[in-house]
Amino acid sequence: MKAISFLLLVTANFLFMTSSIAGVIFNNNGLSGGSRWDASEREVFGVGERSLAGGLRYSVQGGSFEAYRDMFSWNEQPTVNAFTYTVQSAFDVWTTVDPISGLGTNLRFVADLDTAVVGDFRGNGQINRAGAEIDLLAKTDAYFWNEGNTNRQGESWFSTLGSTVDLTSGTKNYAGSSAIIGADISLNSNPGAIYDIDLFFRLLTHEIGHALGFGDVDVFNTRFIDDNYDGTAASLNNSWASSVNVFNPAESPLKMYNVGNTPQADGVNILMESYGLGISATNPINNPIPLSNDEYGIRQFLYPFISVPEPSSMALLFLALLLLYTSKRRLLLNNNF
Ligand SMILES: [Zn+2]
Repeated sequence: MKAISFLLLVTANFLFMTSSIAGVIFNNNGLSGGSRWDASEREVFGVGERSLAGGLRYSVQGGSFEAYRDMFSWNEQPTVNAFTYTVQSAFDVWTTVDPISGLGTNLRFVADLDTAVVGDFRGNGQINRAGAEIDLLAKTDAYFWNEGNTNRQGESWFSTLGSTVDLTSGTKNYAGSSAIIGADISLNSNPGAIYDIDLFFRLLTHEIGHALGFGDVDVFNTRFIDDNYDGTAASLNNSWASSVNVFNPAESPLKMYNVGNTPQADGVNILMESYGLGISATNPINNPIPLSNDEYGIRQFLYPFISVPEPSSMALLFLALLLLYTSKRRLLLNNNF
């Protein structure tokens, strides 16, 4: 098999509060393709298991949440518990049920701090796929910032294999896609970049979106996936996750749009906006679940979820059928009398 590795990058810069755009994926051709983590267990030479199987394993530079916290400067330093909870929550919000469509997800994340992170720490450093599946790094010098930069910002890179993947919906060997096999998330740790816990959470949540294959909606604004964009901000806000063809996302009744600066309009507040991270009155910085309809839509597009009845309701159904059967039997028995 010929394995091709692509490098991709994106950045979120909180300081430029200029704008916003909808749902964007990487390495796609229209609705075809996209980069995803494989739903089925996949061994990658030299770095081990790389897939959603068993959850996506992440680690932090320094080997502990405390050590990672201490690499950043804080307005008010969070406790280790608060920081740990914040990092875990930044992953776990990606597993939340979409409140509009009711769709859940197969995505799961597992802290794997015993695996040491491996990053590229040269100036302009990019990706090293080794380490955990997702490595969280602190860098004073990265692709998008240099020593002394005080912007509170992050950048994420992932490495892919040109290969089919299995989808979370059960589709095998989905063509045109590429498999993400390692991601590095770096946050600016220059001493002048002073964080508070809410911004750290929001920024990290955004960067984790990149590690899952989400693009910046206001950078790749000609590649916006939506169902009904008509030039208005309102048409970007509606929920379309239920429209995704779970067995073949490329066949979904969706389109690619050029949304220009529309996402930067009032009332469009998308977490995956590079500029501003969607922070607004309707999606405030302390929002514990800052995902918008567009994030839930792209999540369903990349990692299609098939809802199944809850075991409890299945059991109730069975019980109801059993009762029905029993009462019918009693009736029959009664008739026999
Ligand atoms: Zn970004």
